[in-house]
Amino acid sequence: MSLDRPYQVALIGGGLAGLSLSISLAQKGYRVLVLEKEQYPFHRVCGEYISMESHPYLERLGLRLEGLPRIRKLLVSAPDGYRLIHPLEPGGFGISRFTLDALLAERARAAGVDLLTGVKVTGTHFRGEVFELQTTVGTMEARVAIGCFGKRSNLDVQMRRPFVQRGSRKLDNFLAVKYHIRTDLPVDQIALHNFRDGYCGVSAVENGLYCLCYLTTAANLEKGGGSIKSLEENVLYQNPHLKELFTQADFVWERPETIAQVSFAPKSAVEQHLLMTGDAAGLISPLCGNGMSMAFRSGLLAEEALVPFLENRYERQEMENRYHRAWSVQFSTRLRTGRLIQSMFGKPWTTKLLLKVLAPFPILTREIIRKTHGNAF
Ligand SMILES: Cc1cc2nc3c(=O)[nH]c(=O)nc-3n(C[C@H](O)[C@H](O)[C@H](O)COP(=O)(O)OP(=O)(O)OC[C@H]3O[C@@H](n4cnc5c(N)ncnc54)[C@H](O)[C@@H]3O)c2cc1C
Repeated sequence: MSLDRPYQVALIGGGLAGLSLSISLAQKGYRVLVLEKEQYPFHRVCGEYISMESHPYLERLGLRLEGLPRIRKLLVSAPDGYRLIHPLEPGGFGISRFTLDALLAERARAAGVDLLTGVKVTGTHFRGEVFELQTTVGTMEARVAIGCFGKRSNLDVQMRRPFVQRGSRKLDNFLAVKYHIRTDLPVDQIALHNFRDGYCGVSAVENGLYCLCYLTTAANLEKGGGSIKSLEENVLYQNPHLKELFTQADFVWERPETIAQVSFAPKSAVEQHLLMTGDAAGLISPLCGNGMSMAFRSGLLAEEALVPFLENRYERQEMENRYHRAWSVQFSTRLRTGRLIQSMFGKPWTTKLLLKVLAPFPILTREIIRKTHGNAF
């Protein structure tokens, strides 16, 4: 396939990081290409709770977010049902990925981005001053290429990134399952229900629906009976709140969305001259509820590093160094805290102990939330 213009920036992956960054760059007049292997709209596994830190940015990109559920309370339950409710400041809002990604794709096209869907990138080669991208429809070129391809992609394998070579370790082998349900839970509350070796988030999205999404170890699936249904009945139902939800809610889809091999292992923010954004640079534990805001913010950091390079104000190496530094300053502590929290939740006694310790000290809960979130941008 031949495209009639040379691109300054090519974004591999049209999820949150790729689409938001493409809009922002196109709004500044840059020639931008996004390559996305799927077709919008489509469902993805995600808890669909967005922390308020990225609300102003999304509005600047031209998204209208009125009328969506605003979430201001957090309920956490231990595997035996013991629970804690805490105000969530500044909280977040709920929107399905089906709607959000399609809205961003529409905005990207309106801003002048060349957004090619159903096109998979199969290889990247840096040839001195230009990137050559092999895709399922031919080769494309751009001066800068950004990796926005999410938590695990064919490109991670192709690039032999260390986290895919580690084998199945503790941080590397999680399974996630998502449903949309109808239920009568409070619209302004996100619930995190723990069960043995996993947790399940439930919060409102648009059109009166709720997203129910859980994460557990691949080993738990085996221990729970080998199928999703038996895992739910044998393990998740041990938490009385989950049993009630699963047996009383109306499940909208026949089958859930699922993903496997989810990894929280550290990654690098720059690899083989690609600036990595969003989950391609590092995935925070979904317990922290702000991977989406981190995806948007990492796109902004990439933009701040690459615009002076596109304007020939510094060399490529300087762009890469600046992005790497900015990314580490912004996210390293959050990711470490996320890994620590993740390691405590889901184990019956540590979860309950933690909740019992936190209950009389709301300031501690506030501090944990603060440590895993950033300021509004
Ligand atoms: C179980 C679970 C629950 C979560 N819940 C929440 C939550 O409630 N709140 C929150 O803020 N975050 C949550 N997250 C995290 C959040 O989903 C991610 O951080 C966010 O989606 C990252 O966006 P991204 O743009 O990096 O990747 P994605 O949105 O995954 O986009 C990557 C895109 O790249 C495309 N792609 C991949 N490879 C190629 C290729 N070779 N060629 C072309 N296209 C390609 C994919 O099709 C995809 O569209 C959750 C994560 C998990 C695992």
